[in-house]
Amino acid sequence: MYNFKSLRCYNCKSVILNLPEAEISKLNGLNFQCECCGHQNLLTEFKFHEGTNNDPLLNILNFESLSSC
Ligand SMILES: [Zn+2]
Repeated sequence: MYNFKSLRCYNCKSVILNLPEAEISKLNGLNFQCECCGHQNLLTEFKFHEGTNNDPLLNILNFESLSSC
């Protein structure tokens, strides 16, 4: 039996991946870009955390989205 898990963007909570745990474990340590907000998500221990990609453009977008709230 497959136990599917939904992995959500750390920033906007939209679902990026929906895979069995066995498949997710193969992707551990990889970066994924959220299609919704464009943030980098690092997959560790079956959860997404803030990515390690320090792209200045992403930082600017992040700042703008924070200040517009
Ligand atoms: Zn997102």
